[in-house]
Amino acid sequence: MRLACDLHIHSCLSPCGDALMTPNNIVGMAFIKQLDAIAVCDHNCARNLPAIKEVADMMNVVLLPGMELTTREEAHMLCYFRTVEECVAFGEKVYAHLPPIPNREKFFGRQQVMNAQDEEIAVEDRLLISALDLGFEECERLIHEAGGLCVPAHINRGSNGVLNALGFLPANARYDALEISKKVIMPPVDLGHHRLLESSDAHYLENMLEPVFFVEADARSADALFDAIAGYST
Ligand SMILES: [Zn+2]
Ligand SMILES: [Zn+2]
Repeated sequence: MRLACDLHIHSCLSPCGDALMTPNNIVGMAFIKQLDAIAVCDHNCARNLPAIKEVADMMNVVLLPGMELTTREEAHMLCYFRTVEECVAFGEKVYAHLPPIPNREKFFGRQQVMNAQDEEIAVEDRLLISALDLGFEECERLIHEAGGLCVPAHINRGSNGVLNALGFLPANARYDALEISKKVIMPPVDLGHHRLLESSDAHYLENMLEPVFFVEADARSADALFDAIAGYST
């Protein structure tokens, strides 16, 4: 079956995510837009996923748990997991590699952890958009070791895309797919056999994708979506 997906959305936990990107608003918008599946990928942190999963289950929207890592080279890399628990555990592992730079809320924005009622239950005070002390290929290895999928984010974008950050796509890392940004031109780079994902990278509700990108999966579930993407580039 064809699942309408938007697999790169930020919540209000990301400092750059709008305050209206709450669990209920994100899932509600996905429901209104008739998306089958979403992935909320906050920067270097998965702490809003339990609440988003609870709301997504209630509204029958599939949540593929994910995060967006910032590698040492300032390249962004998406990772996806089968379960929220696996993703949260990986998030805790990654947190140990995040420099202890405090967030300047007035400048970067508040990093809110929410419950399923859209109430703030904690504020993350370490700046989440900092680069991890892990290189690009190291991040790829850790994601796969933890059982996740590795998808370099908006590879063609000038800021934080791997093609700009490194100048090339490292050939000795393994990618389950590549994300391209439709907003900028794709340079003439050989992407090999990799399949491409298109997502919104929405930081505001109105920027979430319409049902324009589809993944063929065996069922309407996070597991089936995970398997479909895992099979993309093999
Ligand atoms: Zn990014
Ligand atoms: Zn992003």
